[in-house]
Amino acid sequence: MIRPTPAIEAIPQTTPFIGPEQLMRETHQCELLRLGANESAFGPSPKAIDAMTRELPRLSWYGDPESLDLRDALAEKHQCDPAQIVVGSGIDDLMGIAVRAFVAPGGAALATLGTYPTFAYHVAGYGARLLEVPYQPDGTPDCDALLDAARSAMPSIVYLANPDNPSGRFISRGEMEAFYNALPDDTLLLLDEAYADFVDERDLLPAIFQDRLIRLRTFSKAYGMAGARIGYALATQRNVATFQKIRLHYGINRNAQIGALASLHDPEFRQYVVTETARAREAYYRLAAELGRPYIESRTNFVCIGMETAQRATCVMNELLRRGVWIRKPGAPPLDAYVRVSAGTAGMRDAFSAALRAVLAEVFV
Ligand SMILES: *Cc1c(COP(=O)(O)O)cnc(C)c1O
Repeated sequence: MIRPTPAIEAIPQTTPFIGPEQLMRETHQCELLRLGANESAFGPSPKAIDAMTRELPRLSWYGDPESLDLRDALAEKHQCDPAQIVVGSGIDDLMGIAVRAFVAPGGAALATLGTYPTFAYHVAGYGARLLEVPYQPDGTPDCDALLDAARSAMPSIVYLANPDNPSGRFISRGEMEAFYNALPDDTLLLLDEAYADFVDERDLLPAIFQDRLIRLRTFSKAYGMAGARIGYALATQRNVATFQKIRLHYGINRNAQIGALASLHDPEFRQYVVTETARAREAYYRLAAELGRPYIESRTNFVCIGMETAQRATCVMNELLRRGVWIRKPGAPPLDAYVRVSAGTAGMRDAFSAALRAVLAEVFV
């Protein structure tokens, strides 16, 4: 009899992400307003589109397995050595490599209950145990509780997203430094900075290159290239060499390498996206206030709006979907009483606002 390994067999048949395409098929709709996956509503840089379009005929070539041009440009951006950067097909890919490399089967990893789900997905996939601590009541990851759990359980990896998804909360530079310094020496901090581009550089954890820190960045959010699948890790040369042993050397789309490089050379576009995203957040705050709903101040490209109970939040999400508006909602308390909506253009926000008003008039009667 053909059977998967016991670790794989033990994984429940759930998918961390049900895509909008599947939801369209299930609800028999041919279009959805995409505000569910924190994709950029502002698209990729026109320079990236140009560069990728020009290079399309060479899609018959593999990309440079070392992504050297891109790593050189990234090293300049981050003021580090290209040997301290490894490129992957998105953070999701790099996170899997980190778990595979640093958490042994049966070993332990630690994260916040209800945070970005791909980490838990990889931990399960590699047969490790995931320890979880809840968010604080205001939806901020609980660094003190993570520290306590790390000290008692000595996990191989602590995962933290900062800014966090799905809360949008941000842990200040000072708190991050204190947290990182207080972690046990044998615990690696896997710091997911998917939304770092929306935060002022001076507010982020400073450039630290030590073996017990790996930072993950992506072109999916502020750079608007989610579909191209490209991201990178900032790490010590030694950790990069470890990634080098097991990463898929031809796993990165050549066109994505080219688009990412061109995006880095378009800081004006990135600034435009950051400014427009801030405008979108403010618009959602005003909408929530006007509707008498609480909201969580966010440092990302999405906002959580409170619906009082998890049941109501689910109901609002489903009713919005019925009206052609796709958003998501966090799964674990205390955030499960919220819905999460991605930053949209003014037109997208108007459509969302109209649909939300209509739904709330039905749900909150
Ligand atoms: C969107 C997101 C990712 C996924 O990044 P990719 O580079 O597209 O794989 C990872 N982590 C967090 C916190 C995210 O919000």
